[in-house]
Amino acid sequence: MRTVSHLARRASVVGYLLVALAAAAALVAGCGRRLPERPNILLVTMDTLRADHLSAYGYQRPTSPVLDGLAAEGVRFETATVQWPKTGPSFASMFTATYPKNNGIVRKIGIPLPQKFLMLAEALKARGYQTHAVVANGAVASDFGFDQGFDTYIESWQQPERADGADPNGAGVVNELVRSILDRFQGDKPYFLWVHYLDPHFPYTPPGEWSDRFQNDEHFDPTERIPIDLSKTKIDMVKLGRKQVLEGRDELAFYVARYDAEISYNDAMLGELLDTLRGRGMLDETLTVFTSDHGESLGEHYYYFDHGRFGFQTCLHVPLLFHFPGVLEPRVDPEPAMLIDLTPTLLEFAGVELDDGEWMQGRSLMPRLLGEEGALEEPNYAYSEAGYGRRDMWQRIVRQGDYKFIYAREGGAQRWVTGEVGNPFALFNLAADPGETENLVDAHPEIAERLFRASNDWYREEFDVLVDTTAEGEEREMDEKTREQLKALGYLN
Ligand SMILES: [Zn+2]
Repeated sequence: MRTVSHLARRASVVGYLLVALAAAAALVAGCGRRLPERPNILLVTMDTLRADHLSAYGYQRPTSPVLDGLAAEGVRFETATVQWPKTGPSFASMFTATYPKNNGIVRKIGIPLPQKFLMLAEALKARGYQTHAVVANGAVASDFGFDQGFDTYIESWQQPERADGADPNGAGVVNELVRSILDRFQGDKPYFLWVHYLDPHFPYTPPGEWSDRFQNDEHFDPTERIPIDLSKTKIDMVKLGRKQVLEGRDELAFYVARYDAEISYNDAMLGELLDTLRGRGMLDETLTVFTSDHGESLGEHYYYFDHGRFGFQTCLHVPLLFHFPGVLEPRVDPEPAMLIDLTPTLLEFAGVELDDGEWMQGRSLMPRLLGEEGALEEPNYAYSEAGYGRRDMWQRIVRQGDYKFIYAREGGAQRWVTGEVGNPFALFNLAADPGETENLVDAHPEIAERLFRASNDWYREEFDVLVDTTAEGEEREMDEKTREQLKALGYLN
């Protein structure tokens, strides 16, 4: 018997009190495998990583041998979706297990996460975990409250200037920063370690020998060109401005090969990180989880090298892997899953009782990870929102099985999502049309209506984002170094 009930997967918190079960010596998972009472949890996230560019997800280039290995030994969710394809809102949703529409962290960068929000690291800390993080994207700066609950929160862009010319936010340096804190880990406590890499984020400039490893390979097709307008600094759609152009190139394939090279470099650095931890005996009894905060549009729908604007799969679909040898059997779960489910899942692994209640809107994926019969609750809808920048770009998305419905409320988004101002509805069959080019609303009005209704019901659901009444600390101002890094990433002007 596992001590966590599957019938009560929604989490609850009364005030800030997490009711943790005093588990017996060990939990025994469904198939007789031992689940440690409080396993270590290693969460690795790679910014801007679309699932379909990983060889682990069937991509034609061998971009991700390390992740391929984790996936082969673990559980791979084939169609995981983010709740908002932009760094801040995506992580806010992931770590509070609440939807952006309810927690208010939407669209832009720099909306602070209120200290009163209860976050994953806080809940794990209350469960007796030591909590450490190394992060490389200023969008999750402590300035915005993402450090809540962490004993250690290392921000790569805040480190002293380097003499060796290495990218201060690159994966090699992130690994160095992780190594620098490992001696702080206390042997008598389980750990939660979050490592957030940034490499696949634009600009696509992988280091040294990695840079051109896919240029002119058999998948390189130089015929598609990107219009360039050097009179503009940065352009959102259709063209590239002068600050977006790399090495004067205009072939789409050049940029895609560079993006893929960033992934393969970062994948190799993930291998280095895992070797380091394994070498110190720190991967025993450890759940390793891998995902991303959003994908990247590589020219699809005339949207180049950015994310956040649209709710298309290029930006919503991310990898999601769980690796725990001896506990989780290798399997592939093809059904939609949401990143909002990550926190309840990790808390269940940590032995925190999940109960009906007020805190979390996500559900634990544990039954699906264990491959239990009836684990998938029907109807299994996955919800997201999208829209970067202007308010009239907002979209609401619902996915069920192969079908995906987008509601674009206002003209700004309609023009791009449905191709027609005045038409707010788009329906796609992702199995038949993964590029989301054929709007099926007229062909399948009954499916469109059902999904629109489901998304309306979901959107109207009210929810009091929970409240840590003992929270201390004030909202902070954005630090100058954070501002500089965000400018460099194109988030701020
Ligand atoms: Zn991001």
